[in-house]
Amino acid sequence: MEQKLLMLPQDEYNRTLINNVHPTGWKNPEPAGCYNLVVIGGGTAGLVAAAGAAGLGAKVALIEQHLMGGDCLNAGCVPSKGLVRAGRAAHDVKAAAAFGIHCSAKVSVDFGAAMERMRSVRAGISSHDSVQRFSNELGIDVFLGTGKFIGRDRIEVDGKVLVFKKAAICTGARAAAPPIPGIEDTGYLTNENVFWLTAAPARLLVIGGGPVGCELSQAFARMGSDVTIIETAGRLLSREDADAAEIVQQSMLRDTVQLVLNAKIIRTEKRGVEKNVIVEQQGMTRELVGDEILVSVGRAPNIDGLNLEAAGIAYDAQRGVAVNDRLQTSNPSVYAAGDVCSSYKFTHTADALARILIANALFKGRQKTSSLVVPWCTYTDPEVAHVGMYEKDAHDRGIPVLTLTIPFADVDRALLDGEVEGFARVHLRKGTDKILGATIVARHAGEMISELSLAITAGFGLSAIGRTIHPYPTQAESIKKLADQYNRTRLTPFVKKLLSAWLKWQRA
Ligand SMILES: Cc1cc2nc3c(=O)[nH]c(=O)nc-3n(C[C@H](O)[C@H](O)[C@H](O)COP(=O)(O)OP(=O)(O)OC[C@H]3O[C@@H](n4cnc5c(N)ncnc54)[C@H](O)[C@@H]3O)c2cc1C
Repeated sequence: MEQKLLMLPQDEYNRTLINNVHPTGWKNPEPAGCYNLVVIGGGTAGLVAAAGAAGLGAKVALIEQHLMGGDCLNAGCVPSKGLVRAGRAAHDVKAAAAFGIHCSAKVSVDFGAAMERMRSVRAGISSHDSVQRFSNELGIDVFLGTGKFIGRDRIEVDGKVLVFKKAAICTGARAAAPPIPGIEDTGYLTNENVFWLTAAPARLLVIGGGPVGCELSQAFARMGSDVTIIETAGRLLSREDADAAEIVQQSMLRDTVQLVLNAKIIRTEKRGVEKNVIVEQQGMTRELVGDEILVSVGRAPNIDGLNLEAAGIAYDAQRGVAVNDRLQTSNPSVYAAGDVCSSYKFTHTADALARILIANALFKGRQKTSSLVVPWCTYTDPEVAHVGMYEKDAHDRGIPVLTLTIPFADVDRALLDGEVEGFARVHLRKGTDKILGATIVARHAGEMISELSLAITAGFGLSAIGRTIHPYPTQAESIKKLADQYNRTRLTPFVKKLLSAWLKWQRA
């Protein structure tokens, strides 16, 4: 089997990882008769679909061409959050003086050691996604190789033909190649190889100020790189509320990340060891000099080579495999889940969609993806977490909306933690306590958003949160304070008059 380079550096941790997620010498099994489910792609969506189906008694085959665990384990959530954590530690040591803690020696950052720690944690996590676990413990036929359709009910891998009743396309997405003149010759990093680094680039140019670009820029800056983000929009995190993005932007500037906004990239050039990006900004041409370029300009679905035509499966090069609300493709026997078909490109959505896929594909379920409540979080410092609608979404749909915001400067625990830059915000259907959406900007916003996600999923209004006792002092109290603020909006002059008349009567 021809293989692309699996992972660098080849140290003990990556050897453990590879031994788990793509063991050398693995012998593919002989195909069983007809499978209940053949899954192509062993990332989050594929692993959850395969494990869930096998757990319910289905005969399952799983095909992975590269590394089990997919992007999340190998080149996404896991390594990025390892690096983010190291950056946070470096930042906290430097910021400790504000709390009266002084380090006698100059703080030095060991990027190589931080990356080694990340690799060691990742190697430990990888046993959960291992070929051995899926094969021996879960009883799934695991095939390492590239799967492609050769008919409406069959897939070929490694010269073997797998016949299925149902199939699941879970092939994920990859970093979109930027259409920038010169970029291929200059060379650039993506999420696929940036976590292979063992030394931080002195000057890092990051193309794209979305979630991945922001998380990695801040982490690299905190780990000692001189980082510049180049972004075509006028601000970072353009999907988020402007004031939320502004808080992150200011935090990044304090971390010495330089921002080149409203920039049009003209070309890139390699000059000796330098990798330069030439941009046009406000009518002026600027040359930005770097040692490495990291590209994070979005994701492209992995559909090449699947031979979808052979199975009658419709797709779009940008949006991926076309599915209906129940994840069924144009071939009724084939379903899809995860980044390959969803605009919500998150591990937790890949997981949620895979569960819907099992119910609908194997058990005639009627579950709909449109009924999912999807939160997400950008793991900058502070984090930005969101669920449901933004105010603009409500306006676009003609829904009257009441937006309430509690700044963390009003939350005791945030004051004590020295983390006052941020807010908790909720959008309510006007005249009710029904939560339409929420945004939290806080150091641990990702940990806090689930309370609001639960409320939306379960149909609890904000008043139910208001009746819930929150421990003092916590930053989550901000959410309870939103409910208090909502209750105050109900205290109209008329209600106030009634109450004071009642109390006056009581005194009489
Ligand atoms: C830097 C970065 C950080 C991220 N951080 C977060 C985060 O913090 N939280 C979060 O929720 N999400 C995060 N994500 C997104 C998350 O990683 C993805 O949404 C998730 O991995 C999608 O899972 P998936 O199963 O759909 O696809 P993938 O994980 O991409 O898995 C698809 C698998 O299919 C295999 N494959 C493709 N084609 C074939 C074929 N023809 N035959 C066999 N196998 C094939 C691939 O090799 C791959 O292993 C991050 C992404 C990046 C890039």
